[in-house]
Amino acid sequence: MAGYRKKRRGPQGPNKNEKKVLRSKDAQKQALAAGLLSEKFPSIKRLSVHLVFRSAQQQLLDEKTLQLGPTDPCLFAMPCPGRCGTGSFDFTGKVEEAARSLLPSSDSSGKCAKPIFVGSSDLCGCELKCRMDLEYFPDAVPEPQEPAAAAPQDASPAP
Ligand SMILES: [Zn+2]
Repeated sequence: MAGYRKKRRGPQGPNKNEKKVLRSKDAQKQALAAGLLSEKFPSIKRLSVHLVFRSAQQQLLDEKTLQLGPTDPCLFAMPCPGRCGTGSFDFTGKVEEAARSLLPSSDSSGKCAKPIFVGSSDLCGCELKCRMDLEYFPDAVPEPQEPAAAAPQDASPAP
């Protein structure tokens, strides 16, 4: 055995790890505050979200797909990848809308309306296109109704 041991320590950046821990604690806190998909949207079995971010010049900035299930937190806000540095896209409302109507899919888009820097009148203008595909628990989907002909027709207009 050669006594040749080289133990390289990584950069002793003071708090890199701590920061990471803090960040993940933050994320945990956020996740807790957001609640689970099963709590907020009990009808959703699976939610897949495809996000495409483009700059105001239509340049592709980022693209990602989220796959969420009942045990995942409802984090439906994404930071804007644009120059603003402060904007975010929140598509919670779109999920709510889709889940309320049991829509199988939903398309939406939005533009970041933050100034590119504080005090600027130029807006960031980044665009997010969001495509969602949703799967619901069978219980959540109502049985197909009999044709409405069976319904009472008392409301016929008076002659
Ligand atoms: Zn932005």
